[in-house]
Amino acid sequence: MSPGCNTKCKGLVKNAVLSIELGVEDYQTGDDRRVLSAIRNLYAGVLLLCKQVLWNESPPKSDGSLIYKDLVPRNIDGDRSMVPRKLKRNTVDRQQIEERFKELGLNLDWSKLADLARIRNDAEHLFMTVKPAIAKEALASAMPVIEQLLVDHLQEEPAHLFQDGVWKALLKNKEVFDQQQARCSESFDKMDWGFDALADALEEVRCSSCGSSLVRQIDPDNDSFEVMDLDCAECGAALDREDVFEAAIAEATAGEAYIAGTDGGEPPVTTCPECSHESWVLGEGCVLCPGADLTCSMCGEIFSPDDFDYDAGMCSYHSHMMEKVMRE
Ligand SMILES: [Zn+2]
Ligand SMILES: [Zn+2]
Ligand SMILES: [Zn+2]
Repeated sequence: MSPGCNTKCKGLVKNAVLSIELGVEDYQTGDDRRVLSAIRNLYAGVLLLCKQVLWNESPPKSDGSLIYKDLVPRNIDGDRSMVPRKLKRNTVDRQQIEERFKELGLNLDWSKLADLARIRNDAEHLFMTVKPAIAKEALASAMPVIEQLLVDHLQEEPAHLFQDGVWKALLKNKEVFDQQQARCSESFDKMDWGFDALADALEEVRCSSCGSSLVRQIDPDNDSFEVMDLDCAECGAALDREDVFEAAIAEATAGEAYIAGTDGGEPPVTTCPECSHESWVLGEGCVLCPGADLTCSMCGEIFSPDDFDYDAGMCSYHSHMMEKVMRE
């Protein structure tokens, strides 16, 4: 512990452990009504552990300044330091936690934490009822992050810290989930994707019914996207490959789309005028109805959906010229 630490900092670990234990307990009841609570508790617990790390890294006498959003300058023993405001203290969110960890050179499995955050967000907003399968996935994402925070950054031993059985349950759950996930991903081993966008999106496929990532190909020997049948290994729902991949492509390109939306530039994915899916990938064309033809019948050039009048079968320039001629 750093010299700036006081009794409050141990309190964060204590609350984190309690929150994670409650989450596991919620999950173990198998009760649908407690799934959301399981995910919330788990997520809150993980963020508290992150905050404990930031507390410990805060400069001495700064009152754990690094866990707070807004800092103000103050003179302490003749030195000027940045300390949390006296009133309206908000603590850092996930984004800021990641930024501060990185600035401090502290490692964490950010992709797993992002998975956990996404699951929580989906559970809060996307699904009417959240299935226990989703909590299982949240637990599986959280476990390595919890371990890394406790062992590498807080020098605590998870097996001793948690109540009987809780850590074991987290380990066991992760093992089971990883095996299921490996089986699902093997079912795509023979696929000849044809488009990078499809291959890249596989990581983001989710069941459109329950949200689980345990989506598999029914015939593991199939190699063609056009005849690929999918179902959910968790809830058994038969899944539409175009819907599943449309959503997965959006997820996989969300970062680029955000940058294009804020800084300008071409969006990575647009609507395909032929199949009407959000599947026209910049540089690849429509990945769901390959061969969709956007060749202008006047100039013979191939265009992207933005520059093409699909009904006229012409690029927007020639379609505009044509309209003008017709009007005259
Ligand atoms: Zn499902
Ligand atoms: Zn299409
Ligand atoms: Zn043209």
